[in-house]
Amino acid sequence: MEKTLIFGHKNPDTDSICSSLVMEDLQTKLGKEAKAVRLGEISKETQYVLNYFGITAPEKIESIEEGQKVILVDHNEFNQSADGIEKAKIGMVVDHHKIANFCTSEPLYYLAEPVGCTSTILYNLYNRYGVEISPRVAGLMLSAIISDTLLLKSPTCTSVDVEVANKLAEIAQINMQEYGLDMLKAGTDLSSYTEKELLFLDAKTSQKNGVKYMVAQVNTVSIEDVLKRQAKLEEEINAVINAENLQLFVFVITDIVNTNSKSIVLGEKAGIMQNGYKVEGSIVDMPGVVSRKKQIIPFIEANI
Ligand code: MG
Ligand code: MG
Ligand code: MG
Repeated sequence: MEKTLIFGHKNPDTDSICSSLVMEDLQTKLGKEAKAVRLGEISKETQYVLNYFGITAPEKIESIEEGQKVILVDHNEFNQSADGIEKAKIGMVVDHHKIANFCTSEPLYYLAEPVGCTSTILYNLYNRYGVEISPRVAGLMLSAIISDTLLLKSPTCTSVDVEVANKLAEIAQINMQEYGLDMLKAGTDLSSYTEKELLFLDAKTSQKNGVKYMVAQVNTVSIEDVLKRQAKLEEEINAVINAENLQLFVFVITDIVNTNSKSIVLGEKAGIMQNGYKVEGSIVDMPGVVSRKKQIIPFIEANI
């Protein structure tokens, strides 16, 4: 039987990696041949999770072949997916993002819920199929929820996520607050990355009204520390804008402790930020903003 490949979005975050591994576990337990893979490097936060649970990272792939059977988790937009996705056979999508730039030629399972994390949906899928969740798989799902909801503090976090996270913490036998803060902090060590690498740690490209834009996000415990690298970051952002023909680049620096952000915004559409935020030069002050999906992208799409 041909193996179905399971993957999350490019520049994978903890949800994309963990939900792929979790989906592999579920499919395998349902007797299907499926394998988690990834579309980019493992972040420090995700590496912390994999080390903690003694799990090897999924294999990295560059593109997929025509007719390859795939399951998408944590994304649907083709421009965030594997190269060649247009000609793949998408059998299933489990996601918690807006649906855009997505189209298939055959029927499929599509499971979308407006919750804080893909793993929250997967938890319910285990229950639906009556498959038991092992402590390790529970730990992966919990890590994904902690990552996507910033330890249940992001506005994307729903009461369902909170309920599921508590159940998973119990199955995994983990102190959520303690583990969660250690995990998030592991992802804030940005010192070893070049400015260019910082831009692509967690970057997503999208398109609306013919405007192509990118929103990248880094987590930190000190926004000022990251802004010490502003000049070099701006140089690299401008290079990406030119190389990828972007009209807007928003580099979001999020303080995970105080749940605030500041952004460096460049590109010909940068002026739209003034419609909602205090702007000084290229720096945009975003108090209380932490969610790209629920706060930043809707703002951009309402204004471009
Ligand atoms: Mg994600
Ligand atoms: Mg997610
Ligand atoms: Mg994210």
